[in-house]
Amino acid sequence: MDARVETPYRIFDVTLGRRTILSPNMARLTFVGPQVRQMATLAPDQRIKIFFPSPNGLPPAIPHRADWYDLYKSTPVKDRAPMRTYTIRYLRADECEVDIDFVLHGDNGPASRWAGAANPGDPVQISAPNRAHHGGNQGYEWKPPAGVRNVLLIADLTAVPAAIGVLEELAGLSAPPVTQAFFEIPEPDDRLPVPVWEGLSLHWMVQLEAAAEHRAYGALMIDAAARANLPQGAFSTEAPPDLPEIDVDTVLPWDRADTKSDSFYGWVAGESDAVRRIRNLLVKERGVERTLVNLMGYWRHGRVRD
Ligand SMILES: Cc1cc2nc3c(=O)[nH]c(=O)nc-3n(C[C@H](O)[C@H](O)[C@H](O)COP(=O)(O)OP(=O)(O)OC[C@H]3O[C@@H](n4cnc5c(N)ncnc54)[C@H](O)[C@@H]3O)c2cc1C
Repeated sequence: MDARVETPYRIFDVTLGRRTILSPNMARLTFVGPQVRQMATLAPDQRIKIFFPSPNGLPPAIPHRADWYDLYKSTPVKDRAPMRTYTIRYLRADECEVDIDFVLHGDNGPASRWAGAANPGDPVQISAPNRAHHGGNQGYEWKPPAGVRNVLLIADLTAVPAAIGVLEELAGLSAPPVTQAFFEIPEPDDRLPVPVWEGLSLHWMVQLEAAAEHRAYGALMIDAAARANLPQGAFSTEAPPDLPEIDVDTVLPWDRADTKSDSFYGWVAGESDAVRRIRNLLVKERGVERTLVNLMGYWRHGRVRD
């Protein structure tokens, strides 16, 4: 038996099919290949790893083995395919296509550089959920309780693909929850199409239009956390917990929601120091129940993470 098909995630060999410019700072890259038929996605914030050509210019060649990560870590950095985390935006497994929306932040990182310059046919590899695996769900945090009545989303552009996926899911419900969505974007034209419903209040917060002191990465997200309308059910009945401090230069902040309460559910993702500050603001200052909110650092300004 091929043990590979039983693992929750597996390696997919794909090539770039096409690139679609979505906005000044965002491009949709559609990856294609017969192996995509075996890919799965379990939630709108499904995270995956993408492997790009190594610094020596060679295409990624991660082996299709369950222990690939040990081999990867033992490979010298100069020969190692840079690995970065992204979100499945749309998967059309039957058509062997998967869309991933990339923030184009310049040539300063291997992912953004590759996404800005690659041509159809160029290869990458992806570690993504395996359709053949029948077991526990992995690699996503959007797990709202059934019938949730009030949702808060705060995201910067890296997390907008996942957050719009969440809005699309909610819009399809027979009774979508009251939802506030705050999206920090670099430029006005980075607004992307989203479904709307009565009860959704959508705020595109444009860095270029903000006062100078609010243009730093995440500053508008922090403002949003301070002014969001929170329902009574969002608040803890106890004193705020002692939150352990997080060194965002060494780890990504990652607090998972864990609740069965249908009164409120929060999902916050973006630049790590902004997320750390939002965690303190919501939980310590505003008294939000910690277990009702996912707080996720997606990247760290000035740092390289894989
Ligand atoms: C669960 C999860 C899901 C994610 N989904 C997506 C997604 O769908 N789309 C997406 O675009 N990103 C997504 N990200 C973020 C992405 O992994 C990071 O932005 C990553 O650092 C990009 O790699 P890079 O090689 O371009 O830059 P790196 O080599 O990691 O960094 C190089 C430099 O670029 C800076 N940098 C990194 N990202 C940005 C940015 N967005 N804006 C400005 N400067 C930046 C770094 O601070 C560093 O100084 C996700 C992250 C996580 C954890």
